[in-house]
Amino acid sequence: MPDAFPRSPAGGRLTLLFDADDTLWDNNVHFERAIEAWLDVVAGFGWTPESARAELDRIEEANFSTGGVGTSAFALHLRLAAQAIVPADRLPGALGRIEAIVGAMPRGAVTVFADVVATLDALGERHTLGLVTRGDPAEQWAKIDASGLRGRFAHIAVVEQKMPGTYRELVARWGLEPGATVMIGNSPRSDILPARAAGLWAVLVSHATTWALELAEVDPGDDGVAHVGNFAELLGLFGAPMPSPLPRSISGK
Ligand SMILES: [Mg+2]
Repeated sequence: MPDAFPRSPAGGRLTLLFDADDTLWDNNVHFERAIEAWLDVVAGFGWTPESARAELDRIEEANFSTGGVGTSAFALHLRLAAQAIVPADRLPGALGRIEAIVGAMPRGAVTVFADVVATLDALGERHTLGLVTRGDPAEQWAKIDASGLRGRFAHIAVVEQKMPGTYRELVARWGLEPGATVMIGNSPRSDILPARAAGLWAVLVSHATTWALELAEVDPGDDGVAHVGNFAELLGLFGAPMPSPLPRSISGK
């Protein structure tokens, strides 16, 4: 832990802002499963699975900042990529199967990671907690409600994109001190780099299935970014007492 990182000395209250998808609850895994099913739909037309996936990634990247994120945008991207791959006479059937795949994805339902509730409760005794999530507002608010976590956050924002200006605007809106504010999330591209550019501290929480488009290089020499292997390790960073019993990620693995 670099000395420069805010350790919240006795009485030092920080504002801890959390990403939601793949930080507090599973998200990307549902999209990856849908893509697996989609690859079956577009198979047999001369594209390898790798080249079909690359076409989908290309379309999603082109729409990353402008086309929105969420299940509806994802469904559009699946259809667009299928149109590039599937011959016209087979396209109606393919689009019908894609609609069924997307329809089977969970909406407004989340599985909160095992150690999140106890960790947030402990952190919330010492710090002010906030939530900054990117996506379709109706979908994200439904997930926030379904998570049961809403009451733990003093600040909540659903944003269209996570750029440095997004974080500056939220810090101003909520009257926060950037030097006493930490953005915590699984995405280097959305949570870490733009928060740092806005003068916030940041913590990257490792997650096994972070969306490929969310990956980016984090400067290993940046003392303002801490890295933790799981959510419960945040307790060690921010001086909160350990919950009892210990979350499974510490005591059981
Ligand atoms: Mg995330």
